Amino acid sequence: MGLSPKGAALLLEGGRALGLDLEAHLPAFSRLFDLLMEANRRVNLTALRTEEEVVLKHFLDSLTLLVLPLWEGSLRVLDLGTGAGFPGLPLKIVRPELEITLLDATKKKVAFVEEAVHALGLKGALPLWGRAEALAHRPEHREVYGRVVARAVAPLCVLAELGLPFLALGGVMVAQKGPRVAEELAPLPQALPLLGGRLEGVRALRLPFALEERHLVVLAKEAPTPPRFPRRPGVPEKHPLC
Ligand code: SAH
Repeated sequence: MGLSPKGAALLLEGGRALGLDLEAHLPAFSRLFDLLMEANRRVNLTALRTEEEVVLKHFLDSLTLLVLPLWEGSLRVLDLGTGAGFPGLPLKIVRPELEITLLDATKKKVAFVEEAVHALGLKGALPLWGRAEALAHRPEHREVYGRVVARAVAPLCVLAELGLPFLALGGVMVAQKGPRVAEELAPLPQALPLLGGRLEGVRALRLPFALEERHLVVLAKEAPTPPRFPRRPGVPEKHPLC
């Protein structure tokens, strides 16, 4: 089936609004749309069900990351709390040279991501099942990623503790946030120095067509994260650092 002509046009036009030419990637997005819809009939993966919603709020919203000049070359990227693969899968489709690890704590979501990676023939897209609090202490994951991305996972004070330990020095984390980011940003200076992080900036933008406000919060890793972070599973959320 795939995307309808209307859905494909929406994706192309939205892509252009973000400065992207998505023509060559239409077959991959079309296939991903089918896989999502099919999987959603079996298990509840995502609340977004209409074609327009999926194109706008999953595909294009994920791709807003690409307005930042941070994705050149063969970087290692961690998508923390990827869910059904967002933003990681769209990012991988459009920037195939990135190596993307797609991490989620929910097994059925990782199973879907595995299926999608296989069906789309993506090389260098690595599904990973587990909790960030545990995996961030493993040498093969700690301070090795050039980029960490996360959308709709946790408040910034929690996300900073979960994400910064994965970043190599000089690496950058991008948190995709909605309209109300000010309340989350205000306390952040209390937590960042503890974690070796610094607020690099906040990029405001609007989602194509929907015109909903989005914020890309950019954190830089400027010092090693002390080994006591992240704390044990559940603690960062229950007792946030800020
Ligand atoms: N990023 C996706 C999913 C958001 S829902 C999207 O924007 O569509 C948040 C996801 O984060 C859930 O799938 C949940 O399982 C995962 N998650 C939350 N806390 C986590 C943790 N500590 N470690 C790993 N995954 C986590």
